[in-house]
Amino acid sequence: MGVVKTQFAFEALKSIFKKPSTEEYPHKRREPPKDFRGRPVWLIEKCVGCGLCARVCPVKAIKIIGRGKEVNVTYLLDRCIFCAQCAESCNIRAIAIVGEFEFAGYDKSKMSYIYDKKQLVEKEAEIAR
Ligand code: SF4
Ligand code: SF4
Repeated sequence: MGVVKTQFAFEALKSIFKKPSTEEYPHKRREPPKDFRGRPVWLIEKCVGCGLCARVCPVKAIKIIGRGKEVNVTYLLDRCIFCAQCAESCNIRAIAIVGEFEFAGYDKSKMSYIYDKKQLVEKEAEIAR
């Protein structure tokens, strides 16, 4: 028992002088690593409205409304599991995966995005689901 206590005290003393293993997030922030899978972002001006991204999304986080020049894409961030399947499936690379990852919030309506082809914008939207 005495040996265990000595060992424990030795380990505790050693850790006092060690550099901490954790960082003081959110006061200190690290850049996400290269190829980090964050949020998908639609480059809506490229999109041809084929609907493939919506079909492959395992959690139905993407809705395609309209076709071609008229297409709108709705992306439901709160459903997304950040698998990047949508971006990999888009043949014309109209979806970029960005390093953004801080999405926590209390308001679900702020977790829906509409990409409007006519206006070429991304906007937050309250979506009736
Ligand atoms: S983003 Fe790509 S896969 Fe999705 S509808 Fe547009 S062109 Fe098709
Ligand atoms: S990253 Fe995955 S879960 Fe999120 S929208 Fe794309 S396919 Fe769906």
